[in-house]
Amino acid sequence: MSRNVHQALEYCNMCPKLCRSLCPVSNAEDNEATTPWGKMSAMALLEKGELSWVRPTTDLAYKCTQCRQCTEVCEHDIPVAEVLNRYRVQSFERGSSPPSVYDYCKKFLKKNNPFERDLLSDVSRGFSEDLLGKTRTVYFPGCSEIRWNKGVIHDLFSLFNKLGCKEAGLYPEPIQCCGYPLYAAGDLKGFRDLAEVNFHVMKNYQTILVGSPTCYYTLKFLYEEQGFRLGSHFVPLLDFLKSQVEEHNYSLKKNFRTDIVLHEACFHRSYEEGDSKASEIIQLVAGLEPVIFSGHRGMSACCGAGGLLPVTSPDTSREVVFKQMRESKPLDLQKKWLVTTSSACAHHLKKYATSEKITHIVSYLNSCIE
Ligand code: SF4
Ligand code: SF4
Repeated sequence: MSRNVHQALEYCNMCPKLCRSLCPVSNAEDNEATTPWGKMSAMALLEKGELSWVRPTTDLAYKCTQCRQCTEVCEHDIPVAEVLNRYRVQSFERGSSPPSVYDYCKKFLKKNNPFERDLLSDVSRGFSEDLLGKTRTVYFPGCSEIRWNKGVIHDLFSLFNKLGCKEAGLYPEPIQCCGYPLYAAGDLKGFRDLAEVNFHVMKNYQTILVGSPTCYYTLKFLYEEQGFRLGSHFVPLLDFLKSQVEEHNYSLKKNFRTDIVLHEACFHRSYEEGDSKASEIIQLVAGLEPVIFSGHRGMSACCGAGGLLPVTSPDTSREVVFKQMRESKPLDLQKKWLVTTSSACAHHLKKYATSEKITHIVSYLNSCIE
């Protein structure tokens, strides 16, 4: 155990649970054991040998969406999600992770994505060959967007056209997943192997625009942890769009929607500092400051889709959405559009929220601009 992990476990153990009210998982389960404090205390007992490496203790390492809301309020910046992930890795290696995790990883390895599909063929359909592979700047949509929200990719290239941006193409490589699902499963070896292959392919591109906040965090930071450093090759899509909106002239449609609420994916929290890029870009284009779909303390709410929670604890993951929708009643979401920054979040919210009016920020911007 590294000194940092040891220190994190000690701090949490002694803490009067200051982040307790923020954890979407323990709130959904109404369970003290799944608070950040509860999970970290259980990991400390595993370390000391006072608990054994068996389920349901090891399941606690998976009771986390990796939303980082606890870290955001923690006076010691304890990276609970990262610490729990280390225990996922140990649990996975010992064979004591939930069976659903091993099944999931087995499926993943068939086609290097969680959907057992040829995602390059899926994403290529509907796009001209010119867009695939002729450019040094490419858009990497990520596996969830290709599988669940392909319309966003069409909307993005429509938006690029309207803004006069001709430089970007579509990422044309056989592997269309960054490997985060394997990382979240605790399959560190599988993740590392995939990262190595992607690293050698991706270094041939000058700039890779990354749509999914989870993919961006993975490619930029988790790859680096494994020794695969491509740093500035990766640019978050919203940063790029903001610069395009600032540089180019465009006209707005007459009746674009202004009745929106903004949902920001949790993974923005892991790399964005300062003001929200999504909010800034909506202000620039639509001229309005969007209301944030927030949970406690004004932070953008977790939808429950991260950290593989839908695989390991599907009921909890669903309850996170239900609870969030109940608590958001004052926002009157039935009458407004919920604009989210992630295709995975859009899919999860659409699946369980009763409102149909859920869209991706790229589609929203495309619907505003003529
Ligand atoms: S993450 Fe910070 S606030 Fe939360 S239990 Fe640990 S020490 Fe306390
Ligand atoms: S990262 Fe989020 S889900 Fe995980 S323990 Fe912290 S608050 Fe809970």
